[in-house]
Amino acid sequence: MLRAQTFEGAVMTGFTVAIDGPAAAGKGTISKAVARHYGFGHLDTGLLYRAVGARTLDGTDPFDAAQALSADDLAADNLRTPEVAQAASRVAVIAEVRAALIDFQRAFARRSGGAVLDGRDIGTVICPAANVKIFVTASAEVRAERRFLELSDKGMDVSRDQVLADVKERDARDMERAEAPLKPAEDAVLLDTSDVSIDVAVAQAIAIIDQIYGA
Ligand code: C5P
Repeated sequence: MLRAQTFEGAVMTGFTVAIDGPAAAGKGTISKAVARHYGFGHLDTGLLYRAVGARTLDGTDPFDAAQALSADDLAADNLRTPEVAQAASRVAVIAEVRAALIDFQRAFARRSGGAVLDGRDIGTVICPAANVKIFVTASAEVRAERRFLELSDKGMDVSRDQVLADVKERDARDMERAEAPLKPAEDAVLLDTSDVSIDVAVAQAIAIIDQIYGA
């Protein structure tokens, strides 16, 4: 069981940054860099769904997997495969699975010292009162190319066409689901990374946060 209590002693003065967006838009890299820049903690919430999805591939019931999730499950080394990404987006449509993961995410968001959470529903559902909300986007083709290079670099045998099809399928499932669909919060700042390097995208995210954090 993921223990939300770990963060509950946290003083409620934490600063929360919500970073959402579709697969491979760059939110993971931006979130890590932003957390390092400000000394905040970082939670990649996609890992929670990937860990649940991975367990279902051995036949475990998704809700049981979500309830029994442990920190060790998040450290598993098989979570970055295309099969697990698809399994994650399939379990992510289940309301009970999402509900089982809420407390842990909200407690992390409140940790003292600041927190960056990245995912699909951080600004809309998990932390609607986040201090800063950024929605990171890029065209499906650019995102698929980045994911193709990342997977090929890790030695995985994937084709560009298959990666693009996977990205589009996952986007559609994430955007069309009834529960916490992927969409920008009304007060999110949009950051399109299609035509910029990751360094520029990180600098843009920091400039957005500085306007509020530095104020
Ligand atoms: O971000 P990542 O690609 O690792 O997420 C894997 C899947 O987990 C997404 O396609 C999405 O279905 C689900 N997810 C979600 N809500 C989040 C984070 C991820 O539904 N906050």
